[in-house]
Amino acid sequence: MSDAPLTKDPAESAPLAEDLVVLESVNKHFGALHVLQDINLTIKRGEVVVVIGPSGSGKSTLCRAINRLETIDGGSITIDEKPLPEEGRELARLRADVGMVFQSFNLFAHKTVLQNVTLGPVKVRGISKEEAETKARALLDRVGVGNQADKYPAQLSGGQQQRVAIARALAMEPKVMLFDEPTSALDPEMINEVLEVMQQLAREGMTMVVVTHEMGFARSAANRVVFMADGRIVEEAEPHQFFDNPRSDRAKDFLSKIL
Ligand code: ADP
Ligand code: MG
Repeated sequence: MSDAPLTKDPAESAPLAEDLVVLESVNKHFGALHVLQDINLTIKRGEVVVVIGPSGSGKSTLCRAINRLETIDGGSITIDEKPLPEEGRELARLRADVGMVFQSFNLFAHKTVLQNVTLGPVKVRGISKEEAETKARALLDRVGVGNQADKYPAQLSGGQQQRVAIARALAMEPKVMLFDEPTSALDPEMINEVLEVMQQLAREGMTMVVVTHEMGFARSAANRVVFMADGRIVEEAEPHQFFDNPRSDRAKDFLSKIL
């Protein structure tokens, strides 16, 4: 993996608001199930927030709501001080500010690795194919798969595919990256190559929300751990405090099962 930065120099950007993603009293139901209950969460620019919690606690729904893949019933979500629009071109633009990496890679199977990374920038950002390809090759180099550009996803290992998915999200120059259990579907020997790319991104100052059970990553990369259970944020703390001294019984119980 090269040492070249994954993101552009933050100094190139104008002075910006400190609070990048703000959720206020967010509520969401699936029928009778109250899946997000009064969620208040602020993610500052450059912050790395790890979200953990038992299966079914609402972590994926939270990520999807931030990206507007899921509607909310109440409350508000703003990104860079702009509310999330319901639909249309505004939504496409705002969504492009949020990069998302899923457990299941979600690469386009019938497109090459290079095409996977150039498609969004050409279609949504409106940049030329040539420029998109130059940038895509540089990003693929940086995540260590530069020599796979002309292959199809199925010809790559899971770890390589997930690194392509990260490059594809970064190609849109998002303001924040959401990772929903990005290593859960990987064979154990491939987990670290993906976590290393994420660590590098974090070091470069990318704002990140990471749902993961990788506690080593949480301890070393997170500024803050958010623990969810039953649709609520039960506990929020710095990693060392959360792991060494969890306050709630729910968190103690959860940690006793996974550590
Ligand atoms: P987590 O990611 O923490 O495992 P999810 O956000 O995926 O949790 O799911 C939270 C709850 O919402 C679960 O009980 C799940 O079954 C339910 N759920 C998720 N998506 C839907 C949906 N589209 N329709 C109905 N129920 C859903
Ligand atoms: Mg989930």
